[in-house]
Amino acid sequence: MDTLKQRIVEQGVVVSDQVLKLDALLNHQVDPGLTMEMGKQFAERFRDDGVTRVVTVESSGIAVAFATAYELGVPLVFARRKKTLLAEPDMLCERVPSFTKGIVTDILISREFISPEDRILFIDDIIANGDAARGLVKIIERSGAELIGAGIVVEKCFQPGANALREQGLRLESLVKIASLEDGKIIFAE
Ligand code: 5GP
Repeated sequence: MDTLKQRIVEQGVVVSDQVLKLDALLNHQVDPGLTMEMGKQFAERFRDDGVTRVVTVESSGIAVAFATAYELGVPLVFARRKKTLLAEPDMLCERVPSFTKGIVTDILISREFISPEDRILFIDDIIANGDAARGLVKIIERSGAELIGAGIVVEKCFQPGANALREQGLRLESLVKIASLEDGKIIFAE
């Protein structure tokens, strides 16, 4: 997506060699037109896979996951994040470290909204070490549903998350791949 790359160059802020701030288009402000275009791209790639639900983790994945679910004509379910887990027997839960916040949170999805018959497409904003995605994969496995793939807006290739999941057999597609953020410069892969 050339438009997306251009917006990342114009509006992204390199915070360090590891972190790219994308508040202007993904993590704080959302451009509806651009986001719907991202949804179309993911829907095109996974249209023939019989997706029954799109799943993401709150909050930054919700807008693009909504756009994808809208294009595919299926419901969107977002995992909730909570700091403490009170006994919630109907919830599937995994504990995951948060890359940007430096804390550990629980991500939860109610069994009401994910069933063994589901074919799930996981959508998220950015992948770094892959902890959020791995937590979600575990939840989906425990639900008995099938994970048919993952769509990620920005893949940071210099961190291990995306390739580790591919090596485990997950079909992971990203819209933009970033090879490096060194010296304050955004270098795209490919
Ligand atoms: P992971 O679990 O893959 O290490 O990190 C995934 C989550 O952390 C993403 O959903 C995203 O919200 C946040 N994140 C990871 N790297 C970055 C980054 O470079 N910039 C921003 N803004 N968020 C990031």
